[in-house]
Amino acid sequence: MRVQEILESFSKFPVASFEKIAPGSSLILSPHPDDESLGCAGFIATAIKQGCPPVVVIVSDGSASHPGSHLWPPERLASCRQEESRNAANALGLPSDHLFFSGLQDSAVPTAGVIFEQTVRHILELAAQYHCQNILVPWRHDPHCDHEAVWIMGQRIKALRPDLRILAYPVWGLTLPPEKEIEEQMPAGWRLNVEASLPKKRRAIEAHLSQRGLVVKDDPNGFVLPEHLLEKMLQPYEIFIAS
Ligand SMILES: [Zn+2]
Repeated sequence: MRVQEILESFSKFPVASFEKIAPGSSLILSPHPDDESLGCAGFIATAIKQGCPPVVVIVSDGSASHPGSHLWPPERLASCRQEESRNAANALGLPSDHLFFSGLQDSAVPTAGVIFEQTVRHILELAAQYHCQNILVPWRHDPHCDHEAVWIMGQRIKALRPDLRILAYPVWGLTLPPEKEIEEQMPAGWRLNVEASLPKKRRAIEAHLSQRGLVVKDDPNGFVLPEHLLEKMLQPYEIFIAS
């Protein structure tokens, strides 16, 4: 299907209540420290308001965003990005014991093997400990290998625990060229109205200072969140795709 048709279908997803989209508690898998804020901050804020704060697991360490920097080698950048995710979680009111870091290497999240299985097992333990019924993963067509890898983790979780509901949220997929063809059926899902949470969502995104070009000054080719993505992420609705 053409990306344009899929994006149009997202924009026509029925608007549903939080309870309908994700009844019970949820565990959110974020490939990098910032995807949870970009794709799900409204969901997180709504869940907290409803009295069921989600568990957020940041899968990769985010250490690959500024590979040309000498002042911010991977370890330093990884700890900075953890701190930014904690600040983002605070902005949303997420209790600190609901935020976890798998610490896998950025841009190298595995799609099989020992570390993959260990990570899946750890996620399932957290889901059991926090009584989660829903697992949120990135959309499979987000154009980044780590997003796809975390989607594959969701597929593994689904195979091991068919009772858990898997929902996908798009981030970078919303910026795909409209004319691109991708292998996808007509998707189904819901839109969550997050208008009331947008100020908090904005603060959560802003907490990722390093991704806004405000921390690392010695890597002119380092990553900066583009305006066109931010604009798509600060819409009144967040999209959740059934799978
Ligand atoms: Zn990402």
